[in-house]
Amino acid sequence: MLIIGPPGSGKGTQAERISERLGLAAISTGDIFRANVKGETRLGIEAKKYMDAGDFVPDSVTNKMVRDRLSEADVQDGFLLDGYPRTTAQVVYLDHIIAGKDDKLDVVLQLTADDEELVARLLGRAQETGRSDDNEAVIRHRLDLYHGQTEAVVATYAERGILVRVDGIGGIGEVTDGVMSILEDLLKVPVVNGR
Ligand code: ADP
Repeated sequence: MLIIGPPGSGKGTQAERISERLGLAAISTGDIFRANVKGETRLGIEAKKYMDAGDFVPDSVTNKMVRDRLSEADVQDGFLLDGYPRTTAQVVYLDHIIAGKDDKLDVVLQLTADDEELVARLLGRAQETGRSDDNEAVIRHRLDLYHGQTEAVVATYAERGILVRVDGIGGIGEVTDGVMSILEDLLKVPVVNGR
């Protein structure tokens, strides 16, 4: 499963909650990059300059990182990928990884929200957590990339008939419950609601 949404749509929060309920390994490319920045690894030092500017980390770096993560043992029974793919080239690469595992994507969840709501949310988050990419100019640039590049990714999955779109505005629990009831119908899996 994939979760896609603009910056500030709550995809990280929802990815954690949904993966827990479905018993899937959650993988966030943004979190992996931030852990590497914190640990001052080579990958982190390379990624930081792009992240601070709100740019995508180059595919040559990101694709390999995702491929390596998806080869680990905990994802072999399924995974929820948050923040990847964001470009059509990444879609092609992910298709190639998944085909190599003789697996398939079941569902792509898109969280939607209005741009001005997102900017307000992220400016609020900046005051609490001080993420280095949460200032207004960088936030607007990240939104532009989402509209310019990642919406094409969403369109690809819509054409494949596996896209589910959910409004990301609302309480955290409300959004999770909305997503879970759709997934329950779609995947025909028993899910525990209201936890
Ligand atoms: P947001 O969606 O709010 O921008 P994330 O935590 O998902 O936040 O990502 C933070 C940053 O990490 C991005 O701005 C980008 O620099 C980098 N990043 C994450 N995922 C990808 C990806 N799939 N391709 C390229 N860069 C990525």
